[in-house]
Amino acid sequence: MERLLLIKYGEIHLKGQNRPFFKRALKNRLIQGLKPLGCYVHEQDGRIYVTGYDPLDEDRVLERAKHTFGIVGVCPALAVEKEPEAMYAAALSMLERAGSGQGDFTFKVKARRQDKSYPQNSFEICADAGGYILDRMPTAKVDVKKPQYTVEIEVRDRAYVYSHEEKGVGGLPVGVSGRGVVMLSGGIDSPVAAYMMAKRGLEVEAVHFLSPPYTGEPAKEKVIALARRLTEYCGPIKLHLVHFTEIQEQLYERCEESYLTVLMRRLMCKISEAIANKEGGQALITGESLGQVASQTIGALHVTDSSVEMTILRPLIGMDKVEIIDIARAIGTFDISTLPGEDCCTVFVPKHPATKPNLKRAVREEERLQVEELIAAALQKTEVITLLPT
Ligand code: ATP
Ligand code: MG
Repeated sequence: MERLLLIKYGEIHLKGQNRPFFKRALKNRLIQGLKPLGCYVHEQDGRIYVTGYDPLDEDRVLERAKHTFGIVGVCPALAVEKEPEAMYAAALSMLERAGSGQGDFTFKVKARRQDKSYPQNSFEICADAGGYILDRMPTAKVDVKKPQYTVEIEVRDRAYVYSHEEKGVGGLPVGVSGRGVVMLSGGIDSPVAAYMMAKRGLEVEAVHFLSPPYTGEPAKEKVIALARRLTEYCGPIKLHLVHFTEIQEQLYERCEESYLTVLMRRLMCKISEAIANKEGGQALITGESLGQVASQTIGALHVTDSSVEMTILRPLIGMDKVEIIDIARAIGTFDISTLPGEDCCTVFVPKHPATKPNLKRAVREEERLQVEELIAAALQKTEVITLLPT
């Protein structure tokens, strides 16, 4: 008898000719996430199996597996010989483990026979297993419509028995949609944006802008902690730390105050685009949400968009702050985002930011700077850290 995780995958079933590609990507992501925990991952006949871990680590392995995009369900299971006594004993032990046995309870057995050479059909397996359990658990009753517990037996290369399925995060395996560069602040929104795009199969790299001495070590530590937290879902993340002080100072000295925020945003996008081009990224990702602040009005977003050729993905654009916070809490970034540490955007804030900035005017303001030189200098000073899932 071996304890393992049986993994069910979802949307990737639908992808026709691309199916092998998606399946391989999912398996590789699982290997990447679970190998550090001592696991083996193999795929057979539409199921992925995770084995080899220390049973004491099962909760951790289960969490990591559930957080792998592309997975819809994870079942802690027992694998046994395809032989009635072994299968039924496993079903009984699964029911006991599920907490039944105290007082009356109802159950049903569900069987799936993928190996058609097995002598009994699924109906017969259910009936025999049910009888075996009823003989040994006097307080049990069968209820096929609304049972409290369902034990499943899948007859494949071996028999797999489980009574409980934990929901996976769904989505598409990271990497199948290409690569994007997330502009990661220390705030609540951008980590959620990164998570959402990784969920749709984008591999993410991150760019963070810091302005020492106006922003300090805590802000930098915070963004590193956020990126590290995101690796749980996104896999390894390369974080580019861009020094933005000189650009901000020049902006402040030379440009119209009400345009500072939108000009800063344009420069951030230009630098992020240059990094994306160097790294094979095909899109930028931000945590902007329509109307949240002055720089996120439709007009301001247009002025920002026009600074680059690359597509800017804004997965939070139609979401309320409370909805974003719910996700941030669920993925464990909220508590990090709310630690102290100021963002460079809050350093030179205009008193009255333009909510309807004009593109021509923005471009004219920008011409007061040596944009190319500033970008080249910032890129040269950029520090790169690679974060791995722990
Ligand atoms: P967040 O919570 O993500 O910081 P926000 O609501 O505070 O978002 P802004 O500060 O206006 O909004 O920033 C809008 C977007 O610009 C952010 O979601 C992020 O993608 C990007 N951004 C802002 N500051 C930085 C930074 N210091 N480094 C990298 N990207 C940034
Ligand atoms: Mg912010």
